[in-house]
Amino acid sequence: MPVSEPNNDRICIQCIMDTTDGDISFDEKGVCNHCHAYVEANRINPSEIAAFNRTIDEIRQLKGKYNCLVGVSGGLDSTFLLIHAVQDLKLRPLAVHVDNGWNTGLANTNIVNLCNSMGVDLYSEVLDWDEFKKMQLAVLDASTPDLEAPTDLFINYTLRRVAKQFDIKHVLAGTNPQTEAVMGSNWSYGQRDPIYLKGLYQRTWGGKPKKLPFKNWYLALLERFIGGLNIVRPLKYTRYGKNIAVERSQRESAWVEYPRKHGESFITRFYQDYFLPQRFGFDKRKAHLSGLILNGDITRDEALRILHQDELQAPEHHEADIAYLCTKLEISREQFNDYMSRPLLFHGSYRSIKTHLLFRIFKYLKSSGLLPKFISRQLEKIVLH
Ligand SMILES: [Zn+2]
Repeated sequence: MPVSEPNNDRICIQCIMDTTDGDISFDEKGVCNHCHAYVEANRINPSEIAAFNRTIDEIRQLKGKYNCLVGVSGGLDSTFLLIHAVQDLKLRPLAVHVDNGWNTGLANTNIVNLCNSMGVDLYSEVLDWDEFKKMQLAVLDASTPDLEAPTDLFINYTLRRVAKQFDIKHVLAGTNPQTEAVMGSNWSYGQRDPIYLKGLYQRTWGGKPKKLPFKNWYLALLERFIGGLNIVRPLKYTRYGKNIAVERSQRESAWVEYPRKHGESFITRFYQDYFLPQRFGFDKRKAHLSGLILNGDITRDEALRILHQDELQAPEHHEADIAYLCTKLEISREQFNDYMSRPLLFHGSYRSIKTHLLFRIFKYLKSSGLLPKFISRQLEKIVLH
């Protein structure tokens, strides 16, 4: 595929990704690399479907109260996933929710309604608020865009811990290539890097966090190889899209749609609607809407209209949100303004898995072809993202 050099203010003719993604490239027709990658990510071969069906059959036959685990956030993907797991795949999941202190009331209602209507038990893990708050302040203090990475890391670790506790070997994940395959490069980092996040915490606060569910990176790596936990992504193998999910979630679990994507969590919404675009110029809505365009959920014109309408909401619209954030994080408005005006940095400025000696050895072995492909792929999943 011949590609041109990205230039400023160029937008894809098929989706709405543009040159605010520094690594975007376009073919001779003006179609971007994300559109091409989307097609690849959504390609499924028959043997893959057969393997998926075999796995689901195996899970279904497992004895015990629960045969799999599903993380629920109150958001659309995980709501649809739980309904799909119970009603279509006939599985017996345990639902797990990680509460980082930022849930909206509507999210809590949606989660309870979902579990009740599906007859599924709910396990809630509440993160220690004082330390979690400090973790988020540490990311703000570091001036990097990775404010949501701690939540993702702790969800991942908590799911693994709960799976172990209940002797569950299969975790169903709501990630799907139909609506999520488009994302800007470098728009966030750290979701799988405890060295980076723990390092930021220590940099700001001196001591190590004691109550947050951190795990040493080498144990996480070891678990991946010998832990026996199987991650299954069922949404890839069913007809899935925003419209289908909204309709079914409303019908089956009285799910109430949020006014904005990620309205289930105040911090996620604030992060995507204000923090990232205002501070870094990254607008994740472009990626989400592009996913919906490519999946046929909305047209490109509709996506541009949504983007434009939202832009009409002036910064003062966010004032109430900023005031709430400051109160909750126990910082002054001046402190917030200071965080928002510091020079921009990225994870490369800090210690991370990538700067670890073993990672550098891994990179060397990979580039010299000395590492078996399977091991190389597994390691890449963990460290190269
Ligand atoms: Zn595109």
